Amino acid sequence: MPKLTIKVDPDLCIGAASCVTIAPETFQLNDENKAYVLDHGTEPTPRTYERVIEVTEDEKENIILGAQSCPTLAIFIYDEQGKQLFPEQ
Ligand code: SF4
Repeated sequence: MPKLTIKVDPDLCIGAASCVTIAPETFQLNDENKAYVLDHGTEPTPRTYERVIEVTEDEKENIILGAQSCPTLAIFIYDEQGKQLFPEQ
């Protein structure tokens, strides 16, 4: 399964939660109203704004949809080679 690096920039995140609505297994809001990254619904400690997770193709598409929904483009997604998949460059 492909591995993605998923990163939220907490300085850009405004807590709009559209990522959480679309991909709740991957994004949740912390006490500061910033989205942090989960691994398939679990929260490996510590909570973190960046995590590498293994995903199916469907999960990958859904996570990218979540990133696309972010009004401030605070979510960055990279493939195993470090290529930025979203936002597209
Ligand atoms: S959609 Fe963007 S601004 Fe909203 S919680 Fe997610 S990362 Fe933050």
